Amino acid sequence: STQEKTLQICVVGSGPAGFYTAQHLLKQHPQAHVDIYEKQPVPFGLVRFGVAPDHPEVKNVINTFTQTAHSGRCAFWGNVEVGRDVTVPELREAYHAVVLSYGAEDHRALEIPGEELPGVCSARAFVGWYNGLPENRELEPDLSGDTAVILGQGNVALDVARILLTPPEHLERTDITKAALGVLRQSRVKTVWLVGRRGPLQVAFTIKVPRPRKRLTELLLRTATEKPGPEEAARRASASRAWGLRFFRSPQQVLPSPDGRRAAGVRLAVTRLEGVGEATRAVPTGDMEDLPCGLVLSSVGYKSRPVDPSVPFDSKLGVIPNVEGRVMDVPGLYCSGWVKRGPTGVIATTMTDSFLTGQMLLQDLKAGLLPSGPRPGYAAIQALLSSRGVRPVSFSDWEKLDAEEVARGQGTGKPREKLVDPQEMLRLLGH
Ligand code: FAD
Repeated sequence: STQEKTLQICVVGSGPAGFYTAQHLLKQHPQAHVDIYEKQPVPFGLVRFGVAPDHPEVKNVINTFTQTAHSGRCAFWGNVEVGRDVTVPELREAYHAVVLSYGAEDHRALEIPGEELPGVCSARAFVGWYNGLPENRELEPDLSGDTAVILGQGNVALDVARILLTPPEHLERTDITKAALGVLRQSRVKTVWLVGRRGPLQVAFTIKVPRPRKRLTELLLRTATEKPGPEEAARRASASRAWGLRFFRSPQQVLPSPDGRRAAGVRLAVTRLEGVGEATRAVPTGDMEDLPCGLVLSSVGYKSRPVDPSVPFDSKLGVIPNVEGRVMDVPGLYCSGWVKRGPTGVIATTMTDSFLTGQMLLQDLKAGLLPSGPRPGYAAIQALLSSRGVRPVSFSDWEKLDAEEVARGQGTGKPREKLVDPQEMLRLLGH
């Protein structure tokens, strides 16, 4: 029967890695059935909770993911946290193969004194807040000071700087949350500094789409490295909002306010580059510089967490140790996306590496390395989840929430008003 021939695959995480892995397997194997488990009640990972609201075109990949989810051989199970609601060994028992695509949910710490002061927050949390990530919905960053310092100069740092400086009326027709828009409307932040340890040639902005990105990068570098002429200097002095790059600066300490209660600045060590090529390093010159500010955003990278004690994890690199997506020493277990490669690279990079993982899995299947005989798949997991009081959210449930969000946005000209409270989402679904 078809039941017996079905290749039962489990994917953990519904971001680009999860969806692209599923897409590849469904396309290349006519008997594959893929279940995607997701801890949030809603799908799409960082496409929903990371990509900036003023970059809506990036989110078009959601259409492709939706097509995949509509396949009769694919199912989405949201509101299921792997490692808590169901374990990886339980999944491995129920499926022929398990692919871990759960991304990078932590941020790297600065590891400097004062980091814990109020007024310091991770760019990850700030991004989660303006994008409606449930765990960050109550962040309410303090934007009452006139200067914000962002530690880091990557793409995420740029997104955050842009959101802080964009006049709120330009964000009104995006899917930014109502609450974030309200706080941004009251913002007094006028100046944003992006601080980096290295120089203009090493910054980590993506130069992806040749034209617009390249122009942006050129502009960034030019404004950062050239002295403005008198006219430009006057224009900048009168502009209400400004930003700048501080190169060759390494954060040493977050400086407390006089009463010690909150952040009031950052102490930076001046650095210079030593060595050549790959071995180039930023080393301190001994000079220090203090940058006063009311808000410090640390943007020095995302980091994956271990999901389950049965899965090997390299805590230094923050990835699951793997060879081309095959998890080391665990047959039938695979990984893709940021948890496989580390938290760098755009959606297109994630797509390529997810297809590759899918390919390795199918090679192993052909070589007889996956369990033979039928596997129960979701039937077994559903029984476990229901015994534990967990009620998964299906893709058609998500489509109801999606319609609700779109409807709520309509009155104000927004593409959607995101639901940010998981309890409310479940209530709307009658769970
Ligand atoms: P994620 O997208 O993080 O997906 C992982 C999923 O796994 C999440 O849905 C998560 O909830 C789920 N999960 C985690 N733990 C569990 C668990 N225990 N059980 C079940 N599910 C779990 N790329 C671009 O191309 N263009 C952009 O403009 C762009 N902007 C970005 C902006 C920001 C702020 C960030 C951080 C990234 C941006 N990227 C952009 C990069 C892009 O988002 C990533 O390349 C991509 O999302 C990585 O995919 P992933 O599936 O590995 O991880």
